[in-house]
Amino acid sequence: MENPQAQKPWKVEYAKSSRSSCKTCKSPIEKETLRLGKMVQATQFDGVMPMWNHADCIMKISNQIKSTDEVEGLELIRWEDQQKVRSYVQSGGPPDTSPATSEFTTKECGIEVSPTSRATCKQCSQKILKTEVRISTKPEGQGPRSLAWNHANCFMELSPSIEVEKLPGWETLPVSDQEAVRALVKKVPSNAGTKRRKDAGDDQKSKVARSEGDVSTSRDVSVRSACDVGDKLG
Ligand SMILES: [Zn+2]
Ligand SMILES: [Zn+2]
Repeated sequence: MENPQAQKPWKVEYAKSSRSSCKTCKSPIEKETLRLGKMVQATQFDGVMPMWNHADCIMKISNQIKSTDEVEGLELIRWEDQQKVRSYVQSGGPPDTSPATSEFTTKECGIEVSPTSRATCKQCSQKILKTEVRISTKPEGQGPRSLAWNHANCFMELSPSIEVEKLPGWETLPVSDQEAVRALVKKVPSNAGTKRRKDAGDDQKSKVARSEGDVSTSRDVSVRSACDVGDKLG
């Protein structure tokens, strides 16, 4: 056993089984996945126990870990994973996402059918065409006029847990658009399958047997947990 005084607040390791689940996203942590545990006082015995999270989930949130000295086991994991943790700790934030892309709440957002083709999607920098469904976000600290627009599907990738049906404006959407957006929600999380990701789409399609005939409309995507999407490096 370790000296309690040397107990570090965090522990990192590869999951030894698939039994733990992530306290952040609630999904299971699969065996061999890098996980970060926050050491907390155990309720059932005198000591501490780790509350496990996907390392990726922890590192999506800024300033969770103040110093690499707080992380037990850091030197035992693979070098590239150590570097990932170090760069997260040193930068005090997620490796490659800006703070502005954190989850939104429905109150900050709105959904509508785009009346013009003038707005540009904040996520993919492409035009949002007239009649496409778009979702507005309000940058923090700015007035209601400074809305940012996003394609519905781009937005879903960013904020998959958003409850679209609670977005202001939802009830103004035609039913067909509501269905389309609901379908997006189900599809998320996936990095493929949106019509804008041509490369990914083609790749997917080539894996589907052509002999099936009309599989053209199926956008099969592998089901992954929310945490595996996004910045899974290497
Ligand atoms: Zn997670
Ligand atoms: Zn977009």
